[in-house]
Amino acid sequence: MTATVPASSGSVIVERLAADITAAAAWLSELDGAIGDGDHGVNLRRGFDLVRNRLGAGSSISDSLRLIGTTLLEDVGGAMGPLYGVFFLTMATEADGQEAVDLRQFGQMLDRSTLAVAELGGAQPGDKTLIDVLHPASAALSAAISDSADFGSALEAMAETAERARDETQAMMSRVGRSSRMAERSIGHVDAGAASCAVILRSLANSFQAELVGQ
Ligand code: ADP
Ligand code: MG
Repeated sequence: MTATVPASSGSVIVERLAADITAAAAWLSELDGAIGDGDHGVNLRRGFDLVRNRLGAGSSISDSLRLIGTTLLEDVGGAMGPLYGVFFLTMATEADGQEAVDLRQFGQMLDRSTLAVAELGGAQPGDKTLIDVLHPASAALSAAISDSADFGSALEAMAETAERARDETQAMMSRVGRSSRMAERSIGHVDAGAASCAVILRSLANSFQAELVGQ
C-alpha cells in the first residue's frame, strides 16, 4: 500500500499552519522591518486568524488550502497576499477531487504552485524572495521522488532544504519588491518572505508526516 495523507486531514494541516505562522509572526515582522516595512508577520498572522475562524472541522485538504488562498488573496495586503494567495490556490487545485494525497501528487502540488508564484511575481532565483526557498525545496522534493524515497523522508528533505535556502538569502542583494530599494544594504539580512516560506514548508512537512497512512 502506498503511503498517503487522507483528504480529510485538511483542517488539521491548516490548523497547524496557522499555529506555526502565529508563533513565528513577531520574528517575521522583525526580519521585514530590517529591510522592508515590518508588516510581513503581522499580515500573515491576520490572514491565518481569518482562516482559522472560517475553517470547518473535517474540511478536505483541497478545500482548506483553497480557503487560505482566497483569504490571503482577498483580505490580506502587501506583496505577500497575492503571492501566497496564488501559491495556496494552485496547491488546492492540484489536490482537487483526490481522496488522499500521495508523494507524487504532493510533489506536483509544490511544483505547480512554485511556477505560479514565479509567474505572478516575476522574481528570478537569486533576487532574494520566497522563490529562493520554493525553487530549491521543490527541486529537493522532485529529487527525492526520483530516488524512490518514502513520503516521510522526502518531506524532511524538502523542509531541510527550505531552511538552508532561507539562510542563504542572507548573502543575496534584493532585486525585487520593497527591499530592493535598500540595494547593497539588503545584504546580510534574511529575506522575510523566504523565512515565512520555510515556516510554511516545515509546517506542511510535519503535519503531512503526522497524518500519513500506510507505507
Ligand atoms: P510588502 O513588501 O508589500 O510589505 P510583504 O512584507 O508582505 O510585502 O512581503 C515581502 C516579501 O515578499 C519579501 O520578503 C519577498 O520575499 C516577497 N516578494 C516581494 N516581491 C516579490 C515578487 N515580485 N516575487 C516573489 N516574492 C516577492
Ligand atoms: Mg512588508
